[in-house]
Amino acid sequence: MNQIIKSQDNTTVENQHHQYEQDSYQSLIDGNINWVNNRVKEDPEFFTRLAKGQSPEVLWIGCSDSRVPANEVTGTQPGEIFVHRNIANMCVHTDMNMLSVLDYAVNVLKVKHVIVAGHYGCGGVAAALTNKQFGLIDNWLRNIKDVYRLHSHELDRITDEKAKVNRLVELNVTEQVYNLCKTTIVQNAWNDGRELSVHGWIIDLSSGLVKDLKVSSNAAHHLGYVYQVEELQVVETH
Ligand SMILES: [Zn+2]
Repeated sequence: MNQIIKSQDNTTVENQHHQYEQDSYQSLIDGNINWVNNRVKEDPEFFTRLAKGQSPEVLWIGCSDSRVPANEVTGTQPGEIFVHRNIANMCVHTDMNMLSVLDYAVNVLKVKHVIVAGHYGCGGVAAALTNKQFGLIDNWLRNIKDVYRLHSHELDRITDEKAKVNRLVELNVTEQVYNLCKTTIVQNAWNDGRELSVHGWIIDLSSGLVKDLKVSSNAAHHLGYVYQVEELQVVETH
């Protein structure tokens, strides 16, 4: 069980001195071998356990940005967080990818917490605050521009561009938390009396620390009449 896996040239990765000459692709393969060896050294049963299945209690909806990986940021292990990421951590109600992940997490994995995790200095949010054309991504950025429009009275008073982006990062996470609460997936879980909370976080890349925006929700009463859906009535036929 506790054996050291060797790389293709038959040297242990730890002993390779030409690491910096390798390209970024090969370093991934070597990094994997290193990771496996370290894990098995710490916990010989780690992968046996991991292969048996997952029962995470948290769904993380974060930004695709390479600096905000869910497990590292929260000090958790593989198996503990179910993850969906896209540019600027959006929860768009027509996005089948996001909805499928949410539905599976809530109704199959039965997670207890959904966290929308944004981060200061988000490139997607910054791009949405300009009138530049970037290509296909403009269609995605439109969703963030719509959040800006909802809060333009506040944002237009901020003259410092960096501060403006960071405030929109916060407002965007808050809106995405509301967007999740508006889904029938989340509301049906609440109607069934299930324990499920939706939270909004910001990761401060300059410190690594998470800021809880205190917009957590575990009920639909704050959503307003048209968004708070009534329970689905099942019509029985005889
Ligand atoms: Zn981002």
